[in-house]
Amino acid sequence: MTVNLLDYDREGLTHFLTEIGEKPFRARQILKWIHQFGKSDFTQMSDLAKGLREKLSKLAIIAVPQVIQDHLAADGTRKWLLSVGAGNGIESVFIPEINRGTLCVSSQVGCALACAFCSTGKQGFNRNLAVAEIIGQLWLANKSLRESADSQLSPQTSHNHSFTLQTTQSPRAVSNVVMMGMGEPLANFENVVTALDLMLDDCAYGLSRRRVTVSTSGLVPAMDRLRERCPVALAVSLHAPNDALRDYLVPINKKYPIKELLAACQRYLQAAPRDFITFEYVMLDGVNDSVSHANQLVKLVKDVPCKFNLIPFNAFSNSGFKRSSRESIHVFRDILIQAGLVTTVRKTRGDDIAAACGQLAGQVHDKTRRVAKLNMEAS
Ligand code: SAH
Ligand code: SF4
Repeated sequence: MTVNLLDYDREGLTHFLTEIGEKPFRARQILKWIHQFGKSDFTQMSDLAKGLREKLSKLAIIAVPQVIQDHLAADGTRKWLLSVGAGNGIESVFIPEINRGTLCVSSQVGCALACAFCSTGKQGFNRNLAVAEIIGQLWLANKSLRESADSQLSPQTSHNHSFTLQTTQSPRAVSNVVMMGMGEPLANFENVVTALDLMLDDCAYGLSRRRVTVSTSGLVPAMDRLRERCPVALAVSLHAPNDALRDYLVPINKKYPIKELLAACQRYLQAAPRDFITFEYVMLDGVNDSVSHANQLVKLVKDVPCKFNLIPFNAFSNSGFKRSSRESIHVFRDILIQAGLVTTVRKTRGDDIAAACGQLAGQVHDKTRRVAKLNMEAS
């Protein structure tokens, strides 16, 4: 049976190599070939002995999800739709900024937690992604961005393009990762943590802990485990200042109510005292965006070192919600800022390619179902 080497972090790869009678230190070399040089062909791993390359070709593969769509938005946001088999699509989104490039990575096909305003939640849960499918998103993004940069390079390139050249020419275009794509990362704990290990490993992506963010809807026990295993930056989807409203918007709140969630945030910060929690707060017109909600929020988080990220709701068909007006978002933001909370409003990026949580994959899923239905009708 062949194994997919993208499923292994350094520890797993070392174990595999020992099992096939190879020296453990080879793991470092192989990780570099795969993750830093983006190679998937063992014959190109020139500093490995020929015998080892042949052995690996027989026993192992390096396989990533297949790219089925690749969209580039007017603002440079890029979104890949990837096939993970059985008609299922996942997506990752790259958001270039002046001094960083952030990749938004998916962790599950669908999601079981059914938040009221989330199109991924509306699809229901299908399955957890394998490590190779999670880290494969980063592998593919770096490779595609590098290839695009190479094809843009020409002697005629004008100075106007110097930014593009500086950022995308780098072998690692992705400088930050946020686990904010489809799915609840902490509900796929082991695979996500193995992928995080690779993101942080100097022989793989070498990102610092602060450049890798896990976003959770608030799975309290898993937050504690993450603190023990891999305390990367943590974003918590709060979305409401009281339990009654949060029970409705984020149903997992019935199991882990706000008080327990905030206590888990405090414990998380004990492992990383110089850090803060980022609270995400989706702005839903007439639902959670009033002055009184903002005031409640200020009181609620007064003891938690935190920042706020207000997310204008990304509408999708039949969602039943509307995005708050610019004005109410600004009023809400100013209340938090005046109370001393660092607060940003997320820019809506890649609007022309539907680069929002779960949207494109949702469209493909429906299309796949329609195709299946048509096939059935035809037969
Ligand atoms: N499951 C995790 C991470 C994925 S969602 C979580 O819930 O935190 C990433 C962020 O997008 C979360 O804060 C989520 O609540 C938010 N989100 C989901 N659907 C959205 C929508 N339609 N518009 C704006 N934000 C949305
Ligand atoms: Fe799942 Fe996050 Fe969507 Fe809630 S917001 S349904 S936890 S992906």
